[in-house]
Amino acid sequence: MSLIKSHPDITFKPDFENGYVCPLCFDPFFENDLNLTSKKPLTLEDVPPKSLGGNPKILTCKDCNSKSGHILDNHLLQSLKELDAKEFLPNSEYKTTFSRNGNQANGTVKIDKDGKIVFDIQPQRSNPKSTNSFMKDVFPPITFYNPLFHPEKQFEQYKTNEFSIKFPNNSNERRSEVALLRIGYLLAYSIFGSGFLINGALFKVREQILNPDKDILPKVFWIKYEFPENMLGMNIIKSPKELMCFVAIFKLKTKSKERQFAIALPGPSSPGIEIYENIEKLLCTGDGFRHIEIEHIPDIDFVKNLDNAWGAHLFWQKLTAQNEKNKKTSN
Ligand SMILES: [Zn+2]
Repeated sequence: MSLIKSHPDITFKPDFENGYVCPLCFDPFFENDLNLTSKKPLTLEDVPPKSLGGNPKILTCKDCNSKSGHILDNHLLQSLKELDAKEFLPNSEYKTTFSRNGNQANGTVKIDKDGKIVFDIQPQRSNPKSTNSFMKDVFPPITFYNPLFHPEKQFEQYKTNEFSIKFPNNSNERRSEVALLRIGYLLAYSIFGSGFLINGALFKVREQILNPDKDILPKVFWIKYEFPENMLGMNIIKSPKELMCFVAIFKLKTKSKERQFAIALPGPSSPGIEIYENIEKLLCTGDGFRHIEIEHIPDIDFVKNLDNAWGAHLFWQKLTAQNEKNKKTSN
């Protein structure tokens, strides 16, 4: 932050020494706010969330960390677990209702580490009468014959009747999507530092993150593509120019699966915030662009070195200058 403040064109109003700004709500904080006894303390935040395999990376204020964090992250975790369950992945588990002929029993479906599926019916969570009828219907009573007198019966198979399982569907789609946007934004901040925040197009991104249930941005924040491992971190889309933006690529890990996500974040100049509409127009419809040129931003220290403190902007400027040059040569 002090490196950013040392730029001659940057003034903070009101100005403050040795301060810190929460990257989400933009409230100023001071050294004593590192103490948890402060009225509104700063807290260490995991990016991505710890429950999805992340590590402590940045400071956000307690309000932003707990309020927007937990509401969003819980929905994201839930929706990824539901995806695991639908794919019958090892180590997945979910509560469900088993049913047959109108009779129901509550329980869980567990898939162990070797992929074996275990149906666990929990009578204490169910209506006893309905559960009894369900059990009788699915597991009809059997007679055990003495094999000495009934040798023909010994190979008779024990049969259960078919029953249906309801897949879990409790997560809130919009909140899960905004949770991904939040992770992408905080990841970019953790890599680029405060210099990244000096970008007017990010105002609406923060507004969306802080108000997940409002439709502030168009729906699509992500680029659906499996990028190579070495692109994890920050990247920049160079062309087509309608899709120029930063792309935060990260992995989220449940007990069952690791999945990659790529979140688009607007750059400080055109197309800016329009990037989200353009993604929908150009990448989500049949006739859109098929070819995207994307470059990985090297993992250098953007936070403690004055030469790199404006790194995000320098990469962006290089890109726009290049595009201008290309335009001139093609003209
Ligand atoms: Zn905050």
